[in-house]
Amino acid sequence: MTITRTPYAQTSVQELIDLTGRTAIVTGGAMGIGLGIVGRLREAGANVVVADLDREAAEAVVAGLDGQRPGGALAVPADVSDPDGVERLVAKAVDTFGALDILVNNAGIYPNVPLAELDLDTFRRVIDVNLTGLYLCTKAAAERMIEQGTGGRIVNITSIDALHPSMVGLAHYDASKHGAWGFTKNVALELAPHGISVNAIAPGGIKTPGIGDADEADLEAFAQMIPMGRLGDPDEIGRAALFLASDLSSYITGAQLVVDGGRLLR
Ligand code: NAP
Repeated sequence: MTITRTPYAQTSVQELIDLTGRTAIVTGGAMGIGLGIVGRLREAGANVVVADLDREAAEAVVAGLDGQRPGGALAVPADVSDPDGVERLVAKAVDTFGALDILVNNAGIYPNVPLAELDLDTFRRVIDVNLTGLYLCTKAAAERMIEQGTGGRIVNITSIDALHPSMVGLAHYDASKHGAWGFTKNVALELAPHGISVNAIAPGGIKTPGIGDADEADLEAFAQMIPMGRLGDPDEIGRAALFLASDLSSYITGAQLVVDGGRLLR
């Protein structure tokens, strides 16, 4: 082994962060955290596929991105828990842009239901979207990336609830997110020899339409527990996702980046 003494890095920050010519799928990309991620990946030059249950919302996002940097954007209606839909999504991305380089598994649901009222349908739906969806999208994308032979980046949006419960009423959600984190680590191990990194971002308390449904008092209590004194912005997850999707993070795999204003420190 030769260890060279390089006084400074050879690649510029601009090159490291540049995603021109790469294609990314962002699930649940039409609003909230997904939208924050779509914006930053597109700004860095990636072709971005906005995959969402809501076709109209995804198309509106793509229309708003028109004219940003070279490359393109595409809206694809998709339910991540539907195996055929996921296959169609990956095929559409590759047909349109020629390859798939980045997958951001962001789509997720978090209905707050205490265990005593948690019915089997709700439990199953949360696992289906948050965990089975992650598996389906990762498997389909990894197959393409391995076939292409040029590596890839997979970024899974978990939650601080993948590490520690944030509030009562999320047992089903916490089960799905702990599962997502375990899945991330094992798949990172398997895909590393193919040059594909698999990492997670664990957000906590981000201002999205999804948390708009939460009880106002619960939200207030949650915000007061955040050492930085405020909820986060979807763009702050977008910036973390750009780091993990770009060559800035070239030696990172199987990691979970907590982005929560310090909430887990309490
Ligand atoms: P959000 O505001 O509810 O947005 C989620 C987006 O995903 C919506 O556009 C939704 O479409 C779409 N979606 C839902 N189910 C889908 C499915 N089966 N297939 C495809 N798209 C689907 O949620 P968010 O707060 O941005 O959360 C995004 C991710 O971050 C989730 O995985 C969540 O667990 C995680 N997270 C969020 C926070 C937070 O504080 N916000 C904290 C920790 C983790 P529809 O509107 O049509 O349903």
